[in-house]
Amino acid sequence: MFETKSIRETCVQLDSDIDKGLTEKEAARRYEENGKNELKEPRKKTVVESFLEQLNDPLIYVLLAAAVISLLLHEISDAVIIAVVVLMNAVVGMIQEGKAQKALDSLKKLTSPHAYVIREGKEKEIPASQLVVGDIVCLDAGCQVPADLRLTRTSSLKVEESALTGESVPIEKDASFIAKGAGGGLRREAYEEKGLEAAGKKAAGNRKDTHIPLGDRYNMAFMSTIVTYGRGEGIVTATGMDTEIGKIASLINESHEELTPLQKRLGELGKILSLLSLLLCAALFMIALLQKRNLIEMLITAISLAVAAVPEGLPAVVTICLALSVTKMVKVHTIVRKLPSVETLGAVSVVCSDKTGTLTQNKMTVESCFTNQKIFGKKDLGKEEHKEFLKGMTLCNDGVLEGGERIGDPTELALLDLSARFGMRRDELEKEFPRTKELAFDSNRKMMSTFHQRGNQTVTYTKGAPDEVLKKCSSVLLYGRTVPLTEQQRKQIRQAVESMSSQALRTLAIAMRAGGSGPVEEGLTFVGMVGMKDPARPEAAGAVARFRDAGVSTVMITGDHVDTAFAIGKQLGIVSRPEQCLTGEAVAHLDEERFLQKLDTVRVFARVSPEHKVRIVKGFKAKGNIVAMTGDGVNDAPSLKAADIGIAMGMTGTDVAKQASDIILTDDNFATIEKAIVEGRGVYENIKKSVIFLLSSNLGEIMTMFLAVLCGLASPLKSSHILWINLITDSLPALALGVDNNDADGLMRRPPRDPKESLFAGGGLACTCFYGLLIAGISLAAFFTIPYAVILERQIPLTINNFATVLQHEAILNRAQTYAFTVLGMSQLFHAVGMRDVRKSIFKMKHFDNKLMIAACVLGFLLQFAVTEIPFLTAAFGTAHLTLREWLRLAFLASFPLLAHELMILFSFDFVRKGNRKQKLSAKTASEYML
Ligand code: ATP
Repeated sequence: MFETKSIRETCVQLDSDIDKGLTEKEAARRYEENGKNELKEPRKKTVVESFLEQLNDPLIYVLLAAAVISLLLHEISDAVIIAVVVLMNAVVGMIQEGKAQKALDSLKKLTSPHAYVIREGKEKEIPASQLVVGDIVCLDAGCQVPADLRLTRTSSLKVEESALTGESVPIEKDASFIAKGAGGGLRREAYEEKGLEAAGKKAAGNRKDTHIPLGDRYNMAFMSTIVTYGRGEGIVTATGMDTEIGKIASLINESHEELTPLQKRLGELGKILSLLSLLLCAALFMIALLQKRNLIEMLITAISLAVAAVPEGLPAVVTICLALSVTKMVKVHTIVRKLPSVETLGAVSVVCSDKTGTLTQNKMTVESCFTNQKIFGKKDLGKEEHKEFLKGMTLCNDGVLEGGERIGDPTELALLDLSARFGMRRDELEKEFPRTKELAFDSNRKMMSTFHQRGNQTVTYTKGAPDEVLKKCSSVLLYGRTVPLTEQQRKQIRQAVESMSSQALRTLAIAMRAGGSGPVEEGLTFVGMVGMKDPARPEAAGAVARFRDAGVSTVMITGDHVDTAFAIGKQLGIVSRPEQCLTGEAVAHLDEERFLQKLDTVRVFARVSPEHKVRIVKGFKAKGNIVAMTGDGVNDAPSLKAADIGIAMGMTGTDVAKQASDIILTDDNFATIEKAIVEGRGVYENIKKSVIFLLSSNLGEIMTMFLAVLCGLASPLKSSHILWINLITDSLPALALGVDNNDADGLMRRPPRDPKESLFAGGGLACTCFYGLLIAGISLAAFFTIPYAVILERQIPLTINNFATVLQHEAILNRAQTYAFTVLGMSQLFHAVGMRDVRKSIFKMKHFDNKLMIAACVLGFLLQFAVTEIPFLTAAFGTAHLTLREWLRLAFLASFPLLAHELMILFSFDFVRKGNRKQKLSAKTASEYML
């Protein structure tokens, strides 16, 4: 309804002041009364729903079927154990999911939008959730409208309302529009002036309607919509669930968790393994039929085999590793918005970064000035002849310097700092020369203009990139006199730009126009220029160098002048020769083939517009790279989306950039990208280790069972034994591997991973098979020990048939199975320790870096001990008590994977030494040959 009210009426009704806003006291009172400006969270899953969701998995179906069949076969203890383990798994999964969700919720809070409000006459930044009705909110290109607003000021303000109306073309807003005027008449002039007659007529047509479509409320801005251009101010008319978006409850969908490529691949692997388990069962049946064996007994064995083939702990371990890495990343100033990006980060081969604020500190100070065709230091400023220059930089400025408060773009604040040194203040100057209109800065035009009232004349001040501003100038101000701009003077100005830029200074020109008619930003008078220093971030050069070692190229993409960009790029080690720089103009003119060729050498792109950024990102992608791209502005959103990983800046980034991104850097620092990539590589490495570890254990179980049955022997393991190992003794070490601290230097000495590369690439499959067979070998050896001793004692021939006969004795079988079970369970713990780093001896590993692994091993041994030594567990698992001597012998057998690990290190150490030169060339490390 506020669309039908004038600004004054709105202010009266909402009891607010358009210039001063609310008082803090009144705002606090309204906040108390109406609560937070937030949309209600979507309904959360109930405990029963999340529990059932855990059970909804093909792997769990196999287990449940196994439990039912065991029950039917009166194998009650097996059935109970399977059921208990499945339930435990579901409960643990549920708790973990709840924890991960909580972590993600708290991350959401970190990225929740802020709003600029005017309270007690001062502009300040507050969390958008604290807005109240009557607050005056300032809008800027790139921000998300934080509440429903009746606009009070608009300057080329365009808002994209697709979240609300589905219309993706931004709508031009107009504060002076009233949908139903005070006298019942529509202010059509406002539209005609802007050439939007059609819209005006349309709205006029709507005048009689009691309901005016949202898209036609040109004087309103709605919560969750996005400002794409211009600036504006508005008074909050509704907050939280009272807003238009709040009313449309259906729009607030539950967000669907996205699965990462790895999770998808593992899901497929799970399906393949389930299928494989069925095939194995069928094969086993065939063998049993051929061997004319007891079919019921074979059915029990087949179930055990099916259970052995399924890596039950795998999905949970991977999900937990990914979720933990997201929380870990927050500590290195990175907020992950989309889970799959954690993995993609590890495969990044090109990082495209903007300069200002990311590679540099964004702490601008004016170093030198240029007026009257001369370069001079800022100390010499302040003479009468510099007045217009200082006035221009102060008035054509949106920064706010008040008390200790600094709000705005550092470029603009640097100009305000400078003019303040000479006694000029923006607020005071604006009283004398009120701003009547403005053309906001945009990175395509690379300039901005403000229009001011001077007596009955309008003065325009323009500031922007000197090369662009110069194109619009026809005269120059020399010692207070405006004279036509000669070619010679243009040349001098360009030389001054080059001279400042080559010293890595960022240049900005000031121009003006007094009175005059014709198109705006044309026929300007060149007033002067400043050169600003923006020092490179001290840690950026190191990060660039480490990226180079890691096979990751750094590309600087900036809107700044090519010489400035080259100078900074050289300081940081991104480029060494000017030929490695390309301007946006050249990007626009090169054909695709030549452009792609250029990408091999060019590492700095200067004076680019946002559409060039998209072309650059797509070009690098077309050359087979995985591209990370940083951005902050509204116009960066397309390139952030085009990149494999869009990185938004947390401090200076607009809401639009953040929404288009996959990750957000909370400190805007280039070096943080390196930490995120290290973490991404580490997570992948860890998950790979966990998967290989878990699958080698599964393979060990399958082979143990299959080989024994093939020889006509009883099954060496019961299904409850296998489940115990898969879900209890295996899971903790697998998790410990998943959260291992990797050696960052080692990770960054390798080239990036090929994103299509399988988890088993580079020897991973060989590693799984080797350890799987080794574990099967030692488990079978343990299994055979008991019948072997009996055969020796009875002095009967050492034949397979005799083994089979001896094992038919239940007590002997139980003890033999206990041996196999104990060795299999314990060997996993030894194996996990070695898997921490396949290229390092355990004597060189830092074991206290992974305390979880120590805990997992200690607990694993205790649990394994409990299963054979605590009476009720022995009864449930059908195990036998073991003597200390037996324990020691079995422990020795179980340590074989670790012995093998040490032997492999010895072998590969030799191999690394011999092949050192070859490896350097191929940039591969021993681990990749091994894993
Ligand atoms: P990055 O390196 O992050 O791309 P940039 O600041 O160099 O950032 P833009 O913001 O597109 O890129 O700025 C391009 C040019 O526009 C600058 O070199 C400067 O000359 C000019 N410029 C920047 N900010 C302003 C501003 N607020 N008003 C007028 N001109 C500006």
